[in-house]
Amino acid sequence: MHEAPGQLLKTIKLYIPDLWSAKAHSASFRETRSGYLRSRITMLACVWGVLVIAWIPFDLLFLPSGHGEAIALSRALLGAFLFALARANHQQTSLRHAQLCMSLLVIGLNLFYLHAVWQLDFPLVYSGFIYGYTLLPIIHVAVLTILPVTLKESLGLLAITAATQLYVDQQAGRIFTPENLADYWLQNVLALMVLWSQLSKLYMLMRLYRQATLDPLTGVYNRRMLLQQAQKSLQLCDIKKQPFSVLIFDIDKFKRINDTWGHSTGDKVLRGFATFLQGNIRKSDLFGRYGGEEFVLFLPNCNADNAQQIADRMLSAIRQLDLPTGYDQSTLHITTSIGIASYTNGDTLSSMMERADRALYECKDSGRDCARYHSVGYRYAGDERRKAVA
Ligand code: GH3
Ligand code: MG
Ligand code: MG
Repeated sequence: MHEAPGQLLKTIKLYIPDLWSAKAHSASFRETRSGYLRSRITMLACVWGVLVIAWIPFDLLFLPSGHGEAIALSRALLGAFLFALARANHQQTSLRHAQLCMSLLVIGLNLFYLHAVWQLDFPLVYSGFIYGYTLLPIIHVAVLTILPVTLKESLGLLAITAATQLYVDQQAGRIFTPENLADYWLQNVLALMVLWSQLSKLYMLMRLYRQATLDPLTGVYNRRMLLQQAQKSLQLCDIKKQPFSVLIFDIDKFKRINDTWGHSTGDKVLRGFATFLQGNIRKSDLFGRYGGEEFVLFLPNCNADNAQQIADRMLSAIRQLDLPTGYDQSTLHITTSIGIASYTNGDTLSSMMERADRALYECKDSGRDCARYHSVGYRYAGDERRKAVA
C-alpha cells in the first residue's frame, strides 16, 4: 500500500530522532538491535579474518621482496585480531559492546591498510597488483552496508576511514590534487550509498519492531511485549528484593460509549486514555494495552500501599480527563475500575495478575470507579458466586 505524501512526511519526522542516534531508542529496541548487530559483526569479523589470512601467499609471492614479508606478518596479526574480536563480540550482549566491536573492526582494518601503504612507500600511482591494496578501505566501507546503524554511528565509522585515506593521500603528496578529486567524488558517492543502505536497514528494523511490539491503535506496548517486559522486570525486582505491583485498568461502561458515539469515538477515547496514562508514569514503569478497553500498568519497586495511592490518584485524574468525541468541540468523561496486586514470595506473573483481575471484578461488583487490592489468600464472596455460575 502507498502512503500519501503528507503521511510519509509525518512518518519520517517521527523516525528522525531514532535514525539519528541510539539515545532515542527504547531499552528493548536497543536490546533487539544489539543482538542483530552482534550476529552481523561476528560474521563480518570471521569472513574478513579468513579472507585476510588467505591472501598471505599472494603477499609473499607478488609483492616486492622486503615488503611482502612485513605485510604478510601484519596480515596474520590482523587475522588473529579479527578472530579474537569475533569471539569477544559474541560473548557480550550490550549495545555499547557491539558499538565498540564495530569501531574496533574498522580501526583494525584501517591500521592494516596504513601499514600496507607505508610498507609500499605510499605509492604515488596506484596501479597493477598494488592497486588491490589501495582498494581495501573502499571494500570494507561497502561491506558495512549490512549493519543497521544510526546516522551518528555511520558517520563515525566513515570518518575513521576518511581520516585514514586523507592521511595516506597527504603522505603520498596527492591530497586534493585534481586527479585525486575524481577519487574523492567516487568515495563520497559510495559513502552516501552506504549511509542510505544502513539507515534503510535501521528504518526497516524499527518498523518491524514497532509492528511486532506496539498496539496499532494506541501506540503503547501490546500484550505480548508488555508481558515479556514485565517478566524481566519482575525477575530483576525479585533478585534485588524490591516490591513489584500491578494495576489492571478497565474502562467503565465502555460499550455504552461505542453505542452512543460510534466506534470511531470509542477508538479516540482509547487513544486519549492510553496517551494520558503513558504520560503520567515513571520511566521504569511498564504500561500497555492488555486487550479491548483493558490496560495494565506494572510498577517495579512499588509496594501495595504505594500502588493503592497511585491507583487512587489516577482514578481522580481520569475523572477530570476531557476526551474529545470527534464531533464539534464536544468532549466526554470516563471512569475506570482498577484491580491491584503485589508480588509475594512464590508468586508468578500470571498468579499475581489473576489476583489483580479478581480485584477488578470486585470493583465492578461494587459500583465501578474505584480501586481494589487483593492479597494472597484474600477471599472475595463474588469469586464463589462466579464459580457457582460457571
Ligand atoms: P464494564 O464497566 O463492566 O467494563 O462495561 P464495559 O461496557 O466496558 O464492558 P464490556 O467488556 O462489555 O465492553 C467492552 C467493549 O469494548 C466491547 C467492545 O466492543 C469494545 N472494544 C473493544 N476493543 C475496542 C476497540 O479497539 N475499539 C472500540 N471502539 N471498542 C472496542
Ligand atoms: Mg473489559
Ligand atoms: Mg469495561
